[in-house]
Amino acid sequence: MLRIYNTLTRRKMKFVPANDKEAKMYACGPTVYFYAHIGNLRTYVSEDVIRRTFIHRKYSVTFVMNITDVGHLVGDGDVGEDKVASSARTQHKTAKEIADFYTKIFTDDCNALNVMAPDIEPKATEHITDMINLIGILEQKGYTYSAENGLYYDTSKFKNYGELTGTNFKELNEQLKSGARVERVPGLRNITDFAVWRLSKPEQKEMIWETKWGKGFPGWHIECSTMSMKYLGNHFDLHFGGVDHIPIHHTNEIAQSDAAVGSRVVNYWMHMEFMVVDGTKMSKSLSNIYTMKDITEKGYDPLELRLLFISSHYRQLMNFTFDALDAASKSLSGIYSFLSRMADVTNVVENPDTADFKKKVGSIKKAFFKELDDDINTPNALARMHELIGEANARLASAKLNKKEARTVTRTMLEFDEVLGLNLAQHAKRKKTKLGKEVMTLIKEREDARTAKNFTKADEIRKILKEKHHVVLEDTNAGLRWHVE
Ligand code: AMP
Ligand code: ZN
Repeated sequence: MLRIYNTLTRRKMKFVPANDKEAKMYACGPTVYFYAHIGNLRTYVSEDVIRRTFIHRKYSVTFVMNITDVGHLVGDGDVGEDKVASSARTQHKTAKEIADFYTKIFTDDCNALNVMAPDIEPKATEHITDMINLIGILEQKGYTYSAENGLYYDTSKFKNYGELTGTNFKELNEQLKSGARVERVPGLRNITDFAVWRLSKPEQKEMIWETKWGKGFPGWHIECSTMSMKYLGNHFDLHFGGVDHIPIHHTNEIAQSDAAVGSRVVNYWMHMEFMVVDGTKMSKSLSNIYTMKDITEKGYDPLELRLLFISSHYRQLMNFTFDALDAASKSLSGIYSFLSRMADVTNVVENPDTADFKKKVGSIKKAFFKELDDDINTPNALARMHELIGEANARLASAKLNKKEARTVTRTMLEFDEVLGLNLAQHAKRKKTKLGKEVMTLIKEREDARTAKNFTKADEIRKILKEKHHVVLEDTNAGLRWHVE
């Protein structure tokens, strides 16, 4: 039974799909005005592991993730310039050039991290008509009003406003009044009100559309309401995003979607905790924002980063350090060489306790997926995987592990990887190393020396094979085995 933490109810809940065995999910995608940083990427990897867990649990999953190429303002709220437009201005490019450029890099980053491509990846700029229609419904239902710079949503009209934050309309407005964050827009009825349609300034020449409310562009929150419902329907299962989206973006999305439909649209809201670097918030002034390029240029494999991301729980604040990345890097090569060792097992001796060993593997496998069922507990699941590695290694060290058992272990590891996504399959194949003629002759000479009980000569040849040819010989009950180091 899959249990997940629902921000809406602030507790772990059993997942019950809206429709039998379906899991419809929406993730807030990137705002494509700059490179994604490793904090953003951790959020997408966490969402990928959640998605893979549902797939492994045989749900029929539809995963939609949008691309925000318009409407997200620099301040996240209703002030400041559009992020994409601002980037276009400073880089002397068109908004489309900027969006296409950073979308491509984002896709490459996700591919490198083995994040599965979304089933549907709608772009905001391609759904303006749908957004206008949704705004029309809200207007018709009396939720909107005109203010100086656009059409606004009156948050006092939505009964459960703020539910996602664990507070309510009144409290949120009080909190914001005392905070310095709000820059007041003239004509606003409540501090929590937000634009569904923003009027453009005369100097803005691109990414503007003509509507009955005036020339402008959509609010960021209306984008996600529109695209999620367009592709997943008026009632769907799961919505993901970073924790920063709880108080504004998702709170406002709920207000729009639920008001337009007249009932609850999303059943489960899941939020990914933030990443900090060396204990501090990532910021340009501290030069501690790392992109994928920064990481790979230092020689790390993106999958080492993926392993680091999933080593902590998605609801835990993650502190990024290069020491931690080094540890993940070491751990991943350990896992890879373990799989190569399993592939190289040639021992075919039947073990009397093989059933016991397989039973143990089976129970570790069960425990691994049970950890994931418990709100996607990846660190505990990884610990179970290491338990399996430990068991298999111990059996290998006592020269007991046979080929069939090694295959069971490998199969189990690969099943784990359906969720972990560490590309284990490519390391689980036996390396078809062919030994050269010289090596083969040496092996034969050593065998002859052993048969003649000339152990000194046999050991000398073994040493030459290891030091000069990196071929390691092992004498087992099942005969001679070798592997290349
Ligand atoms: P954005 O492109 O700014 O909309 O952010 C993309 C995703 O990354 C969103 O789901 C954000 O909530 C998330 N995010 C932003 N900053 C961080 C961070 N420091 N750590 C983890 N996730 C983040
Ligand atoms: Zn969103």
